[in-house]
Amino acid sequence: MAKIPVGVLGATGTVGQRFIQLLADHPWFEVKAVAASDRSIGQRYAEACHWLLPTPIPVGVRDLLVQPIEPGLDCRLLFSALPSDVGGPAEEAFARAGYAVCSNASAHRMDGDVPLLIPEVNAGHTALIETQRRERGWEGLLVASANCTGTQLTLGLKPLQEAFGLRQVLLVSMQAVSGAGYPGVPSLDILGNVVPYIGGEEDKVEAEPRKMLGALQGDGIAAAPFTVSAHCNRVPVRDGHTLCVSVALEREASVDEIVAALADFRGSPEAAGLPSSPAAPIVVCQEPDRPQPIRDRDTDGGMAVVVGRVRACPVFDVKFVLLGHNTVRGAAGGSIHNAELLVAQGWVER
Ligand code: NAP
Repeated sequence: MAKIPVGVLGATGTVGQRFIQLLADHPWFEVKAVAASDRSIGQRYAEACHWLLPTPIPVGVRDLLVQPIEPGLDCRLLFSALPSDVGGPAEEAFARAGYAVCSNASAHRMDGDVPLLIPEVNAGHTALIETQRRERGWEGLLVASANCTGTQLTLGLKPLQEAFGLRQVLLVSMQAVSGAGYPGVPSLDILGNVVPYIGGEEDKVEAEPRKMLGALQGDGIAAAPFTVSAHCNRVPVRDGHTLCVSVALEREASVDEIVAALADFRGSPEAAGLPSSPAAPIVVCQEPDRPQPIRDRDTDGGMAVVVGRVRACPVFDVKFVLLGHNTVRGAAGGSIHNAELLVAQGWVER
């Protein structure tokens, strides 16, 4: 099939660059437009962008001129890696102009008519697009990816919810500096240090998984009835968020049953066969000192989350360590995966 022309909003930033890298040889999508702030507009992408990734800037993108964040971009599918305050109104304007928008920004994640998607977890939530189009009167569409920590947590919780039910979740995160964008956290604040605060993060991690694990009811989502308590920390790791998670379940389960539920999880059949789907969304490791960011974050191209140290918890029922790549599964890779689902379901024409 001819590739679908796509654009990246905020293409010069940390997540924007990851989009450009992951889209380089994508079988369905081809980057035709890049857009960013006044600082970058009119420059060639390679000049405007302080490229941070170890692979070269793809040849087809190097010479694209950076354009303003305004409808008129020569594509019909857009990935947004904009800061939330800019992304909120811009994404609406693009959807109103008929574009399909897959957003990474937080502005619309909790809107009642915006699917907050992970293809393996809640592919059916795209039904909200009908409501969105009816209520907002636009022909485009807007779907969102969750916060990076919330995405990987939700993948880990989904098989436990299905098999045993969830009551309470407590997590402590150790989040990489790339999660703060570029230039992000000043080096003197983070080298040899831990910062026990990430503005707004805990609220997002406590709310977004409950929406993704919730049930479609009429024109909206009924949030899943469990509670989450999150402690979010920034640590001097470049990429990869590590979460220590304790979970209280509805039904009793042995550690072996929990490990089996995690390892056997494949997710919605609608995710099977999408170009970015990992072989297994959750990889369970047995080594007592894994997962670790530098060793495990690139598992299956960064699209699988890695769980280890699954053991009984004397306060809750079970505890484990869960690692995910924040700019791949937790941002650009997750959003591309969502776009693939939209194509497979027919919301975006091939
Ligand atoms: P970033 O590195 O600061 O990049 C921001 C991008 O937005 C740049 O391309 C920048 O363009 C552009 N931009 C900034 N202000 C703009 C304006 N007024 N008008 C137009 N473009 C503007 O941030 P990031 O980490 O990539 O994050 C992008 C979004 O993804 C945020 O909403 C963030 O919350 C979300 N997110 C990030 C992660 C992560 O791991 N980093 C994970 C999940 C979600 P210039 O280069 O021209 O300034």
